[in-house]
Amino acid sequence: MRQKFIIGNWKMHTAAAEAGRLARAVVDGVGREDHVCVAVCPPFPYLALVGEILAGSRVALGAQNLYPAEDGAFTGEVSPTMLLDLGCTFVILGHSERRHTLGESDAFINHKVRIALQVGLDVIFCVGETREQREAGQTEAVLDQHLILGLAGLSADGVTRLSIAYEPVWAIGHTGHQATPAQAQEAHAVIRRRFGQMFGEAARTLIIQYGGSVTPENAAALLGQPGVDGALIGGASLHADQFLAIVRAGIREAHAEGVSTR
Ligand code: PEP
Repeated sequence: MRQKFIIGNWKMHTAAAEAGRLARAVVDGVGREDHVCVAVCPPFPYLALVGEILAGSRVALGAQNLYPAEDGAFTGEVSPTMLLDLGCTFVILGHSERRHTLGESDAFINHKVRIALQVGLDVIFCVGETREQREAGQTEAVLDQHLILGLAGLSADGVTRLSIAYEPVWAIGHTGHQATPAQAQEAHAVIRRRFGQMFGEAARTLIIQYGGSVTPENAAALLGQPGVDGALIGGASLHADQFLAIVRAGIREAHAEGVSTR
């Protein structure tokens, strides 16, 4: 049985004091709960501060990006080993904002994924289609492309520390659109099938999260879908009460599915 994994992606939001308050509220709200995995991804400058607050808690620390080299002359970039030093256990890669706003290619993302896994970071690998692609009937082809190119060169053993976040670009942020639970479930099934063709049995334990305007209102319906193993949350993760309400929805679903603790 796969454990639900709920992650808050704070993007380029918060200031130091706010990041600290938010982290403390999440730690207090999660307490010793262990039916779901919970994590937050603050901006780089607050990783150390938030890491200290999370220390000893059940909330994990993740990064929103990395540069795919261990060190070197890469002005302004952050290496995977620096993230490990700061206590990060995982990194988000392939997020649509990095693909579409910052122009990252599948090949560059693939390089990042391979380096992250090599140095010991877990990876949350994001995939998802734009509205135009969905309307043109290309959703499955886009998911295939992201998986085939983004995970090229990895072995079945190598992907055990990788999770996938299905994030339809048209549902992310304040677009006014949300994927229905059925749309999410359908895309997750496509991803698991393709992943199985690439990596065999590893598809059974693969955690696939949904991301795109998850709120306390729609969380239970999304997390209750077969094959939806968690959520990657942007906007709602900036409000402790909303984020914790989504975590509680995950806990209820975990109980309903009989998921054991960590
Ligand atoms: C995201 O950025 O990964 C995301 C899902 O954002 P939001 O929840 O705000 O749609």
